[in-house]
Amino acid sequence: MNILKHPSAVIFFVGFIVYLSIRGYYARRSKQITKVHRQIDLLEQFLLLLVIPSSAVLPLLYLFTPWLSLADYRAPAFVPWLGVALLPLALWLFWRSHKDLGQNWSVSLEICKEHQLVTDGVYRFVRHPMYAALFLWSVAQALVLPNWLAGCLPLATFSLMYLLRTPREELMMAQVFGQEYRDYMNKTGRLIPRF
Ligand code: SAH
Repeated sequence: MNILKHPSAVIFFVGFIVYLSIRGYYARRSKQITKVHRQIDLLEQFLLLLVIPSSAVLPLLYLFTPWLSLADYRAPAFVPWLGVALLPLALWLFWRSHKDLGQNWSVSLEICKEHQLVTDGVYRFVRHPMYAALFLWSVAQALVLPNWLAGCLPLATFSLMYLLRTPREELMMAQVFGQEYRDYMNKTGRLIPRF
């Protein structure tokens, strides 16, 4: 089992449980919320099908089975520790953006019945702090797990989702919130704060 080979893999696994717990907690809370607009078309379904299994299942297969060993590669010993160093920041930003977005969160492109535009907390600085957290998480995963399928592929699939989904999400938000969202766009960066 790869999880026993390196302490950084154990730390990653603990972080993974924390990550799933944060998502599970907020997903349960948003279940009762009525959605008034859903944009889960073929492209969105394809992206969700690509990203969710690759980012959730492949790392577990890597850690607990020998099935992905063909895709292993060697990395310098310090590299996994760089990934470990990123984990607290990724988890904090993930929790904080969930907390700030509150009931307005959705796993896909959706608008709730009483949807409010969030522009405070971490949303004061960037429009997509949750995607920034997921990027940090995916980079950390790629650094901690030296395997093309469990480490690098999830980073590639998330990057594809980010590139294709973000403009569509911003268009949807601009259609719903109009000038208020366009003003917000002018004041903030997508992933990196605008100064
Ligand atoms: N892209 C954001 C949110 C991801 S969750 C981030 O990375 O932090 C996706 C849902 O969040 C979208 O369906 C949209 O309805 C909602 N959303 C995105 N930005 C928002 C904002 N500033 N205020 C309220 N809801 C928002």
